[in-house]
Amino acid sequence: MKGVLALLALVAAVTSMENFSGQQVLRILPANEEQVDLVRELENYEDLKLDFWMGPTRPERFVDIRVPFFSLQDVKVYLEFHNIQYSIMIQDLQELLDEERRDMKIGRALENARSTDTFNYAVYHTFDEINNFIDTLVAENPSLVSKIQIGRSYEGRPLNVLKFSTGANRPAFWIDTGIHSREWVTQASGLWFAKKIAKDYGRDASLTSTLNRMDIYLEIVTNPDGYVYTHTRDRMWRKTRSPNTGSTCIGTDPNRNWDAGFGGAGSSSNPCSETYRGRAAHSEPEVKAIVDFVKSHGNIKGFVSIHSYSQMLLYPYGYTSARTPDNAELDSVARTAVTALSSLYGTQYTYGSIITTIYQASGGTVDWTYNQGIKYSYTFELRDTGRYGFALPANQIIPTAEETWLALTKLIEHTRNNLY
Ligand SMILES: [Zn+2]
Repeated sequence: MKGVLALLALVAAVTSMENFSGQQVLRILPANEEQVDLVRELENYEDLKLDFWMGPTRPERFVDIRVPFFSLQDVKVYLEFHNIQYSIMIQDLQELLDEERRDMKIGRALENARSTDTFNYAVYHTFDEINNFIDTLVAENPSLVSKIQIGRSYEGRPLNVLKFSTGANRPAFWIDTGIHSREWVTQASGLWFAKKIAKDYGRDASLTSTLNRMDIYLEIVTNPDGYVYTHTRDRMWRKTRSPNTGSTCIGTDPNRNWDAGFGGAGSSSNPCSETYRGRAAHSEPEVKAIVDFVKSHGNIKGFVSIHSYSQMLLYPYGYTSARTPDNAELDSVARTAVTALSSLYGTQYTYGSIITTIYQASGGTVDWTYNQGIKYSYTFELRDTGRYGFALPANQIIPTAEETWLALTKLIEHTRNNLY
């Protein structure tokens, strides 16, 4: 009997969801270089189990850290001792996540997912629900939409990409969401984009003209293992789920794994880090699948990789402070795009190159795509600026998707009008 109970307890432990009760997200504002270094030092205390939502960069630029309940006192004492300014951004993360769960249950009860017209875009969905959506959308629009599988994830899940096409051998525009699995508003926006594209073809002049000349590819769940894990075990999981030899820590940061300045500053060689670059460039099957696809396609003209949070539109480079030869054009198109975005709800975006606007990051997606000759390579950081961070309430999904679509439309139109 004892053995059975122990086993049951083990099973419960193995299948239960990480609990974030009492965990806070602190927003820290280092005033000078010395304080930046002191905040950076916190990364070395692995026992504190801190999760840097926004890492330290430079003075006067905030740092967001998720702090487990058992480390809160230590971290606050440390900051106060060093006179570093901070505020509590999220009082109790679990409360937000409980609301998110409730919304998902209610949303699912209200929706009829057998049609993409009655699908509920205003709630977060599971991996299986997203795959069902993809199949439904394809079935409803067989002459416009198809599903292609570009590979499998480490755990063997299909890497599904939607293809919107009205003719053969066209140049293409690529969009991916969810390469960082916890950035749920991105996958949710991807679903909305998919429906928007299917619905607008033949109705909206700009999109129709685009699809008469170009294909659009959309990968909604770019990191499926991570995404499933955020639903079943740890809502705050960011990386892939591949094991690392010589370490008990799992996963590689798929946005540090690309062969563009791979291994440089702004990525970690520590498998326990959230920005672990992996053992080699393109070691992650989720990354390799896109690499192979882009190379074999050979005619992708625009590439957008979508993240959250920070409200930014970024272009290469991230691994070097050198400007690309297309800097002026990329910058002016970004300005047009964020102006369109903010016209809907007034959401303010900053824009610029990755290294100057957010931080140095090497091995990133769009640095690689740009170096492959895809001039119009951009990364979004969607809502918000940190009030909810990765726990963005579901009632912001549709407004986020709508405004982002306005910016995406500008990027797509510019690409279409400047085919090279
Ligand atoms: Zn991200």
